[in-house]
Formats: sequence, C-alpha cells, structure tokens
Amino acid sequence: MRTQVGIVGAGPAGLTLALLLRREAIEAVVLENRTREYVEHRVRAGLLEQNTVDLMHELGVGERLARQGLQHDGIYLRRPGRTLHIPITDLTGRHVTIYAQQEVVRDMSAALLEGGGTIHYEVADVAPHDFDSDRPRITYSVDGNGEELCCDFIAGCDGFHGVCREFVPPGVLTEHEYTYPFGWLGILAQASPATDELIYAWHEHGFALYSMRSPKVSRLYVQVPQDEDLNLWSDDRIWEELQRRLATDDWRVNEGQIIDKGITPMRTFVCEPMQYGNLFLLGDAAHIVPPTGAKGLNLAVNDARLLAAALRRWYQAGSRSGLERFSETALRRVWRAQDFSNYMTQLLHDLGRGPFDRKLQLARLDYLGRSTAAATSLAENYAGLPAQDDF
Ligand SMILES: Cc1cc2nc3c(=O)[nH]c(=O)nc-3n(C[C@H](O)[C@H](O)[C@H](O)COP(=O)(O)OP(=O)(O)OC[C@H]3O[C@@H](n4cnc5c(N)ncnc54)[C@H](O)[C@@H]3O)c2cc1C
Repeated sequence: MRTQVGIVGAGPAGLTLALLLRREAIEAVVLENRTREYVEHRVRAGLLEQNTVDLMHELGVGERLARQGLQHDGIYLRRPGRTLHIPITDLTGRHVTIYAQQEVVRDMSAALLEGGGTIHYEVADVAPHDFDSDRPRITYSVDGNGEELCCDFIAGCDGFHGVCREFVPPGVLTEHEYTYPFGWLGILAQASPATDELIYAWHEHGFALYSMRSPKVSRLYVQVPQDEDLNLWSDDRIWEELQRRLATDDWRVNEGQIIDKGITPMRTFVCEPMQYGNLFLLGDAAHIVPPTGAKGLNLAVNDARLLAAALRRWYQAGSRSGLERFSETALRRVWRAQDFSNYMTQLLHDLGRGPFDRKLQLARLDYLGRSTAAATSLAENYAGLPAQDDF
C-alpha cells in the first residue's frame, strides 16, 4: 500500500493531522493498534483551549462541541477560608471550553471516515523504517498477516508508550524527564457539578481539583502519593477526602455514583528534537506535561497544526523549510506549556518540602489576588497563547 503521510496513532494528534491533510488533498493513512470502540471511550482530558476549539470549527468537526461544550470564562483558586476567582476572559479576551477528549476523538474519527479517510484499527507490530531516506515505510500486521505502508513521511502520533520514538537511532534525541513523587486519583461521577467553573484547591492534605465533563457528570481529582494502591480508596473515602479539601462552610461537592476511577502519575517529559529525517513525533509521543495546566491534548492538536502547515508547503511549493523547522517551532509552545504546567503543579500541591515551602505557595496565591499582572500572566497561559505566536 502507498500513501503520502503514514500516521501512527488515532488519538487527538493523529486524527487532527489526518483531517488537516485531507483538507489540503494530501493523502494519509492512520494505523491504530486499539479498537475504535476503545479509543472512542478512553477517559482522559477535558479542557480545550480556544485555539483547539477554533481549529475544530475550521475543520468542520465543531457542531457537537458548539452544542454540548461548556464555555468557561475563569477558574477558582481555593484554599481553606478563601476563594480567588481568576477572570480569564476579562483578562485575556479568550475562553476555555469543557468537552471530553473521547468526544473530540469520536467527532474527528467520524468526520474522517465519513469523508473517505482511512483508519486501520487493531493493527499490531507497527514499526517505522527507512525514515532517514526519501522512501520511508511502516510495517505492521493485521490478523497475523504482515503488511507494508510506503509513504513520503511518517508522523509518530502514538502517545507516550508508542513505538515510533524508540526507532530513532541512539544519540539523536535528548530526553528530559521528571516524575513527581505523587499522582492524581481521578473519578468520573454521575453528579451535577456544584460549581460553574473549575476549582483548583490548595489544602494541608494536598491538592484537589473540581472539574466536570457535562452538566450531569463531574470529574474530580485528589493528590495521592506516588504508587498509591487504588484499592485503599473506597468510594466513601474518596468523597470524604474531596469534601475535606474542597468544601466550604456553606457549600459542598455534589456526590453521586462513581463510574470511572484511576490514578495518573504526575510526569513531565520532553524529547528533542521532535523529528529525525522524515519521521516526526507529535503530541504525547514527544512530550508529557503534568495535567495541572490542562495542556496535553491542546499541545497534541497544536503539533498537528504545525506539521500540516509544513507538509502543505512541501507538497504545494516544494519547500522543506517548514519541515526543517517543525521541531524548533513546536518546542516553543511545548516548553511554555511545560513551564506553566510545572508552575501550577508547584503552586498547589504538597511537594513534600515542609512548611516553609507551603508558606511560599500561600504567598503566591495571595499575590495572584492582589496583582492584576500576576493574575493576567496565569490567565493568558491557562487560555493558551494565540496560535500565530508560535512563529
Ligand atoms: C488520565 C489522564 C488525564 C488527562 N487529563 C488531561 C487534561 O485534563 N487536559 C489535557 O490537556 N490533557 C490531559 N491529559 C493528556 C492528554 O490526554 C494527552 O496529552 C493526549 O491524549 C495526547 O494526545 P496524543 O494524540 O498525542 O496521544 P494519545 O491520545 O495517547 O493517542 C495515541 C494513540 O496511539 C495509539 N498507539 C499507541 N501505540 C501504538 C502502536 N504501537 N501502534 C499503533 N497505534 C498506537 C494509542 O492507542 C492511541 O490511540 C490526560 C491524560 C491522562 C492519561
């Protein structure tokens, strides 16, 4: 089989890239090792920056998002006895939108397949080859039978545990990695959110986040030690801890049936450059941010936007300049998001560094309430810098 761009992975990065290329009449084939059902039900991110929302509309996949997405104008930062509102839209003119990642994936894969695009689900043994030449290929198997996809370029959109990064020759990539000594225990609950906007809470027991996926479904997290055993957390214990960290004298978290429960490690990772020859790494395949800044999905979509623009220049004008600069351009936003996600993480979590550190965190929270400049800096990073700022 032959195509122009072979894409590994049907997550947000791979699907966005495939849709953008389709719009430019550039052929692409997506190879995904899971079932469509699995990929479209995987519970993950839920906060879309305005850049992501705008791009979804541009791609014609924003119809359900416009109907069901919850547009937010700010966030709350809470600590016992005090809640601060950061009015993101007033400070930046930009919004964020709550719309679950699995809905984004569902909308994008439906649009791609209905428009005649190709996604091969449930492929195995995916391996990129010869990407240091102008004849890259991807080998894989379907029901035990070997297949080969020849292409001009390979986009590794296969997430943090994917294979493409591993095939880059040793010594080419520099990997920066840090794992925080804690994780997030996250639940999805059939409970109407008791808040109109997200609440990020600083507490003596550790961080908590009150988020939502729809007017009837809440998404909540508590900071737990690294390697925490999920079995130690009964539903009652989770609600008790959420109330302790989030409730105020006259307000409580709405409780309901827990429909999903899991622990996410807090990890930060960047590999650079994000390319080698005609292989490009996008999204979680190249970088991971702690979820405190809600940037992972948005970065994946942005990488796809940048690579699609560079490929368009190659196919339309024969210019490789955008492709050569892909990594450098994408990494500007990646490192900005790394800095912001780590800032939010260090502002709100118990980092295990003792009372002096906790007092500094409270001083920073206090400053955000007293300084419009400090609040604006947080707001513009949270909403995401405009897409044109990448160049
Ligand atoms: C629990 C959790 C909560 C999160 N919360 C947030 C949040 O609130 N906000 C936010 O912005 N981000 C959040 N993230 C991060 C966000 O979900 C990711 O950054 C985003 O999924 C990245 O998209 P991607 O397309 O790069 O990778 P992925 O979504 O991981 O997609 C990669 C795809 O490649 C496929 N694949 C993997 N290996 C192979 C292979 N060998 N062959 C073929 N296919 C393969 C996978 O099945 C998958 O479909 C969260 C992540 C997790 C795990």
